[in-house]
Amino acid sequence: MDLSSNVSESEFVVVGGGVVGNCIAMGLAAKGKSVALFDEADNAFRASRGNFGLVWVQGKGAAMPTYARWTRASAHLWKDFADELTQSTGISVSLTQRGGYSIFLDEASLHQRAGVYEQLKNALGGDYPFEVLGHNAIKKEEPQIGSQVAGAILHHEDGHINPLNFYRAITNATGRLGVTKITRRVSKVAPAANGFIIHSDNAGSHHCSKVILACGLGTAELGRPLGFKVPVRPQRGQVLITEKLPPLINRPSDEIRQVNEGGIQIGASAEEVGFDDSETIETTAQLAANAIRQYPFLEKAQLVRSWGALRIMSQDGFPIYQQSTLYPGAYYATCHSGITLAAAHARLLPDWLCGDNSTIAKQGIAFSEFSEGRFNDS
Ligand SMILES: Cc1cc2nc3c(=O)[nH]c(=O)nc-3n(C[C@H](O)[C@H](O)[C@H](O)COP(=O)(O)OP(=O)(O)OC[C@H]3O[C@@H](n4cnc5c(N)ncnc54)[C@H](O)[C@@H]3O)c2cc1C
Repeated sequence: MDLSSNVSESEFVVVGGGVVGNCIAMGLAAKGKSVALFDEADNAFRASRGNFGLVWVQGKGAAMPTYARWTRASAHLWKDFADELTQSTGISVSLTQRGGYSIFLDEASLHQRAGVYEQLKNALGGDYPFEVLGHNAIKKEEPQIGSQVAGAILHHEDGHINPLNFYRAITNATGRLGVTKITRRVSKVAPAANGFIIHSDNAGSHHCSKVILACGLGTAELGRPLGFKVPVRPQRGQVLITEKLPPLINRPSDEIRQVNEGGIQIGASAEEVGFDDSETIETTAQLAANAIRQYPFLEKAQLVRSWGALRIMSQDGFPIYQQSTLYPGAYYATCHSGITLAAAHARLLPDWLCGDNSTIAKQGIAFSEFSEGRFNDS
């Protein structure tokens, strides 16, 4: 792109170069749309660099079956999506989808959770493949499991990836599809004739017909002047990783997984501390102690790295996809499970952004439930 010209042009602008923005840009470019993607510098908050790498179904949408359907639609698309990424970029994201666990240290919590999943299964017409495993059954699947573990729920649709390779692959894929990358912070999105003018720090102005704010924790600042509420907040998660070890864990759980390169990843906390992504000894110690109760061999493993990152959390924890009622053509998209939903964002959401609701409706998903109209003004 020629940054010396005063006003550049594309049909779509995506603001935000995390996984959500890149997946949307990839899907739009694959449909033949001209797309420019603005992203702030590397010192920005970026959950896409600090996440746990789960493509996770269980537990999602217990209080909103439409979210469970959306999550499952994405999980079902993931294999094909991962293959496409590898074919186009040569980067493997190391997807495995052989099921995953929630592990419980007490029977009461295990059965309470199983009850919640039974209700969700009913709401989904009986199609929700999970099993409750007692201690002996989980020990058979995971010989390293500790004696304090009461049992686990195995959901057969859960899986995981290598999140850093995925981030590399998706940014590479958007480049190959011709998305124009502009590494500048957007300071304002101004409604204009036939669309919007994107104002960015030191990069002149850019005109587009449609703009999608997918800039994580930066969405509220840009979105509110466009009439959006954007009820999201940061929530810190801390994650630990051990030295590389031989294969010891068969399937991931929502707290512990062995990554394709051998390290055991342990996470993630959920802390309401505002815009603070630092690590703390106290939480690191809690995460490690919990992990050792589940897998005692971890007592002897060396931790090599830990980090904190900020989730983008809506008021009710579910995604928000909204077009501006004041300025049609302006949208925002936000969620706290952008890895799980990546395939849906690349394969299904772009049709909606192009005005075609039928692709998502065919999946049996009542998409309007994701609008921000579900939140009261406050
Ligand atoms: C600890 C942790 C564990 C997680 N584990 C999982 C998991 O296992 N599975 C899962 O599905 N999800 C997981 N997540 C959530 C997942 O990482 C996020 O949903 C996802 O990364 C969100 O991507 P995003 O693109 O919306 O936001 P981000 O990754 O935060 O990216 C936002 C981008 O917008 C840019 N930006 C912001 N403001 C502006 C502006 N004004 N102009 C230009 N650019 C701007 C920033 O530079 C940044 O690149 C986890 C998150 C955390 C923190």
